[in-house]
Amino acid sequence: MTIINITLPFGIIKDISDYSRFINEILKYDITLNILKFSTGSNGINLLIDIPEDKIKTITESLRKSNIIVNKKGRVFIDDEKCVDCGACISLCPTDALHLDFEERLEFSYEKCIGCLLCLDSCPRYAIEEM
Ligand code: SF4
Ligand code: SF4
Repeated sequence: MTIINITLPFGIIKDISDYSRFINEILKYDITLNILKFSTGSNGINLLIDIPEDKIKTITESLRKSNIIVNKKGRVFIDDEKCVDCGACISLCPTDALHLDFEERLEFSYEKCIGCLLCLDSCPRYAIEEM
C-alpha cells in the first residue's frame, strides 16, 4: 500500500454527494481504501489515503481528470530547537522513521519517511514541519 495526499477543492465539493462521488471514483478500481486522515484546509478537503501501489498511476490520473489535486508525497523535518525528545510522535510513524536513540534523543530517518504526515499534528511543541 502507498500513501497519497489529495485535495478536493471547495469549488467541486458542494455537498456530501459530491464527496461520495469522488470516493466512488477511487473505489471503482476494486481496491481496499484506507482514509488515514481527513481535514479541511484553506483550499479544500484534504485526505491522506492508503491505496495499493500497483494502482497509484491509474488512480492518480483518474483523480486529476476530475480536478482533484494529487499532492506530491511530502516529507517532514524536525526542528531540533523545538523538539524536547518527548517521543509523542514515535508511535504514529508507520515506518520507524522516528525513534529515540540510545541517549533518548529523537532521531529522524529521512530515508524511511514516506511522507504520510501522520506525525505532523502529534507534536506538542510544533517541532515537526512539512517540507
Ligand atoms: S511523515 Fe509519516 S513516515 Fe514520515 S516521519 Fe512522519 S509519520 Fe513517519
Ligand atoms: S513529539 Fe515533538 S517534541 Fe516530542 S519527540 Fe516528537 S518532535 Fe520531539
